[in-house]
Amino acid sequence: MKERLSGQDIIMNETLQFIDSHLHIDLYEEMQRNVMIQEIADHPALRAVIAVSMNLASSLKTKELAEKYPNLIQPAYGFHPEQELPAGEQQQELLVWMEKHIKDAVAVGEVGLPYYMRKEAESQKRSFELQPYYDLLEKFVRLAASHNKPIILHAVYEDAERVIDLLQQHHIQRAHFHWFKGSDETVNRMIDSGYCISVTPDIAYEEDIQKLVSVYPLDLIMVETDGPWPFEGQYKGRLTHPIMVADVVRHIAAIKGAGVEETAARIYSNTSRFYRIGEYRV
Ligand SMILES: [Zn+2]
Repeated sequence: MKERLSGQDIIMNETLQFIDSHLHIDLYEEMQRNVMIQEIADHPALRAVIAVSMNLASSLKTKELAEKYPNLIQPAYGFHPEQELPAGEQQQELLVWMEKHIKDAVAVGEVGLPYYMRKEAESQKRSFELQPYYDLLEKFVRLAASHNKPIILHAVYEDAERVIDLLQQHHIQRAHFHWFKGSDETVNRMIDSGYCISVTPDIAYEEDIQKLVSVYPLDLIMVETDGPWPFEGQYKGRLTHPIMVADVVRHIAAIKGAGVEETAARIYSNTSRFYRIGEYRV
C-alpha cells in the first residue's frame, strides 16, 4: 500500500492552497525527485515550491527543473553559506551567471552567513574568517537590490543582526529569513523591518519555534520544509516532502488560535505576494 502523505488529513477541500517556500529540489536523488514532482503536480492543494540553490552547479540544475515545470518550480539562485567558499574566479563566475539569469528567477537565494561552520570551528579552537563570506553576501544583496528581487537568507542568531544591518544599508525590503532562530531583540527588529520568516515541520516538537510563531505577525510568516533535510518526531526516518507544510500550517493555526483554512489562505497569500507568483505575478 502506498504510504499516506503527511498533512493529507487536513486537506478536506480544494480551496486550501500551499506553497513550500524553501526546498532544495536539486538535492533529491533523481528517482525520488521525479516521483515527488509528479506528486506535487497531481496534488489538489500544493501550488508551487520555491526552489533554492546551493552554488553554480545547483543553480543550473534548478534552472533546468524550473524550465521543465514552469509555475510549479519557482527558482532562486545563490550560494549556500555553510560550505567552503570557492576561489575568487568561481565566485565571479557565479555572480556573472546570476546577473544574466536572475530576471527569470523569483529571488536570490539561498545566501547568508555560515553560523554553524563558524561555531564548529570555534568549538575546535580553529580560526575562522567570516569576512570573505560577508563580502560575498554583500554582492548578493547588491544584486537583489539592483534587480528588485527578494533575498532568501540563511542567517540565524547573532548573524541575523549583521545581515539586517546590511539589508538596511541597501534598502532591501523583501527579505525572507528561512528557518529563523534568534533572540527576542533580533525578532523585534525583524518584525519592525517587515522581514519574513518561514517555519519548518520542526514546529511540531521545537518549543523555541512555537514561541517564535506566537509572537511573529501571521502576515510575515511562510511555511517550508528545507527538504531533503530530515526531521525528527513524527517525521523521523521519512523522506521530507513539500506536503509536510500542511502540518506546519495546522500547528501555526493552533498557536495563533485561528482556523486552519484562514491560516492557510493568509500564508499562501503572504508567499505569493512576497515572491510575486500566481495572482501576484508582475
Ligand atoms: Zn536551505
